[in-house]
Order: sequence, then structure tokens, then C-alpha cells
Amino acid sequence: MKLKFMGAARTVTGSKTLCEHENIKFLVDAGLFQGSKENRLRNWNLDFNPKALDFVILTHAHIDHSGLLPKLYREGMRCPIFCTKGTFELCEILLKDSAHLQEEDAAYANKTGHSRHKPALPLYNTQDAENVLTLFKILPRDEWNELGKNLQLRFLRSGHIIGSSFVQLKFLEQDISKIITFSGDIGSGRSQILRAPVAIDETDYLILESTYGDRVQVRVTPEESMQRYLQIVLNRNGVVIIPAFSVGRTQEVLFLINKLMQNKKIPEVPVFVDSPMSSSANYIYLHNKEDHILKIENEQLLSPIAPPSYHETKSVEESKRISKQSGPMIIVTASGMITGGRVMHHLKDRLPHPENGILFVGYQAEETKGRLILDGIQTIRIHHQEIPIKADIFNIDGLSAHGDYLDILEWLGKLKKEPKLIILNHGENRSLKHLKLLIENEYHFNVTIAEPGGEITTLVTSQSPSVTSDRSHISP
Ligand SMILES: [Zn+2]
Repeated sequence: MKLKFMGAARTVTGSKTLCEHENIKFLVDAGLFQGSKENRLRNWNLDFNPKALDFVILTHAHIDHSGLLPKLYREGMRCPIFCTKGTFELCEILLKDSAHLQEEDAAYANKTGHSRHKPALPLYNTQDAENVLTLFKILPRDEWNELGKNLQLRFLRSGHIIGSSFVQLKFLEQDISKIITFSGDIGSGRSQILRAPVAIDETDYLILESTYGDRVQVRVTPEESMQRYLQIVLNRNGVVIIPAFSVGRTQEVLFLINKLMQNKKIPEVPVFVDSPMSSSANYIYLHNKEDHILKIENEQLLSPIAPPSYHETKSVEESKRISKQSGPMIIVTASGMITGGRVMHHLKDRLPHPENGILFVGYQAEETKGRLILDGIQTIRIHHQEIPIKADIFNIDGLSAHGDYLDILEWLGKLKKEPKLIILNHGENRSLKHLKLLIENEYHFNVTIAEPGGEITTLVTSQSPSVTSDRSHISP
């Protein structure tokens, strides 16, 4: 099998690996590049032919793993997309939302003339998203599914979000049966909501995510930090803004707030979920029971994560209204890294006032507004205005949906047989280098780092696998 790393190589975004086995061509994940403009431009120029694909396999629904699918449909892809039930349900809301954002961006560019293209077009539209959803094929977890001659696929729970799975492929190569595993994103196993990732016994090749390859999350419960931070702000009648990813983090945060309120550890103030996508994701989370450990009381589906004073804001007008209301209250809103969305007007209104607090609960990528605020800048530009940062800035580490390097080392320790090669992806440079060293020192496994556009073939099984790199399409 030949692998080519088309994204999430030396970065955490745009996950996609092009695979070829006996003339069968397929992608594992089809993620959107997010973040900087330079990154986003990479979504426009596909360096492979989507019409030539035989199928796509998804590890999970997050947009950096699935968000390119509508674009591939637009470019003529009509092959099946294999995933789990939870992944399909989340993709239904995530892909439509992503299309909506693309349309809004294009409309904004046309209104302001901020585009070299006249008229500016969206990367894809809602129709493309709806069309590509018809190609999805749900497969069960834990069993091998035939994909073609000498090629089988198995999904195993990876504990990162609802539906998320390790993707395992079993194939014959020169009469030798081999297994390759794509970790996708791996859960920490310490979620208050999700079941832990399953152990894998055996794999010849492992494509391993490295997001937290250089960091360890605090092992004290996030509940204690959350209680302390919320008390500080709510006791002085401030407003707590929690920027959180709609899928995964929002549910973990709501669970903790609910628990703290039920146990009378923090005052019962209004809690707003100000993101239609987060609200939809709440329902999908709770009804996918095979992935979570929550107890639903009195058939009230949302009971485990809906605090007593829980509100979902529907319209943008309603959202703007609560951003003018006085505290105490808690607003959980998107986007998690402050790259756009309703969180922007909340921050604009709340950041200049010292009684308020911003509580970060997730990974903040380089160059995002989230990272800048966390790093302590004094003012931030929002909607063309310089906003002073007077509110308290808090950060809770332990809530990440990703395992840190200790979790990953522990998970690797469960392998019963040494893999031939581990290929690290989905990490920034420091994480990748650090995780490589750790795995080499701890287990003496053969480890390499996926390069953008680099190729690896499983036919070479000696100590030095064939690794080529082509970084020519990457801007410096
Ligand atoms: Zn993810």
C-alpha cells in the first residue's frame, strides 16, 4: 500500500492521507485546512483527482477531518464515504454549517470588495454539502468489512468524540497479510462523558496523531479548576464567556457546569448555549449511547448536560441581546479558538470589563486570536476595532478531547507486537519531534514524521522504509 500525506503533515489541520492498494485509490479523512489565510487557500487547489477515488474513510466528523468532502463532491467525486453512525450524524450538522460559513465568507467578500475574484465564490455551498451526505455509508464498529479484493476495513472506538474511530485496514501484499491503523484523533480516556479509546493488539503500521506530543495535561480534575474560576467571576456578578468547540468540548463543559450547580458548588446562574451547532450536537451526543457513560433521567435526553437554568439561543438577534445583558451568567459559545462566529461579539462586549472572565477549555492553535489572548496580549482587533483586554483570562487544560503524550505512550504500551513503523502526523513541529523521541526511547519502535506531500510505501518493510518528501507546494 502506498500512502501520500496530503494534510495534517507538520501541522494539525487538513487531515487527509491518499492511499493506493492494487489500483484501489482512497482517502482516509478529507479534512479542511483551517486557520491562516495561507492554510485556507490550500483547500482550493486539490493535488489529487477526486473523480479517481474509489472511496473515502472517515475517522471522525471534525471539520479538519471531514470538511473538504463537499468540495470533492463539487469537483466530481461520487464514491462511497464509509464512517460510523455517530460520525454521519455529526457530519450532517458540521458539513452544512461549514458550507454556510463558506457562503457567508463569499458574500462578505463581495460586499466589501475584499477579493481578487469577481464575484468571489464559496469553496462549496449548502447544496454540495447536502449532496455529499447522500454518499455516506454507515458501517458497524468492531468487525471487518470487505472493501475489495484483499482489503478489509474495521472501525474501533477512539474515544475522542461521538462516533470517532481508529481506522484499521487489513490487506494482502505479496501474500503477506498486513494491518495499517490510522489513529485519527485519540481521546484522553479521562472524559467525563465518553468511553475510553479501545486498546489495539496489533498493527504493522500506525499513523499516529501528535497534537499533544510535547505537553502533558494537568491531572487534577478540571472540575476543581472550573469551580474556582466560575466562583471568582460569578461572585462579582461578572459574565463568563467559554469559547468551546461545538462538538465534544461544549458537552464536557456543560456536564461540569451542571454537576457543579447540582452540588451547589457554584450559584445557579443562567447558562446560555449560544451556537445552533452546539445545541444540535448536544442531542446527537446524548442519543448515541454506545459511546457515552451518562445517565439520562426521566427520559429527559439532555438532563446530564443541561444545568437548571439552561437556554439555547436560536437567532443572531437573541445572541446579540444576551451580549448586552448584565451578569452573573455563563455563555458557552463557538468558535473554540476564536476564529469567527458568535464568540466575536461576546468578546467585544465583555473583554473591556474587569468583572468578566474568559475561560479557555481547549487547544489554541498558533496564530489564532485564542492563542494571542491566552499568551497575554493587551488589546485585540475584533470587527475592525481595537478592544482592550481587562477581563480575567483563565485556562483549563484537562478537558481536551485529545490524549496527551502520556496517554499515547500508555495506549502504545498495550500493543502485543512491535509495529513495523509508526508515522506521526497531526501535530506542530515541536510536538512531532518530542513524541518521536519519547516513543523511540520508551519502546525502541521505528518512528518517522509524515511530511507534506511525502510518500511512504508498506512494501518496504526493512528498518529504513522508503520515505520521500515533496514540500514544493508549501509556501515558506
Ligand atoms: Zn478531532
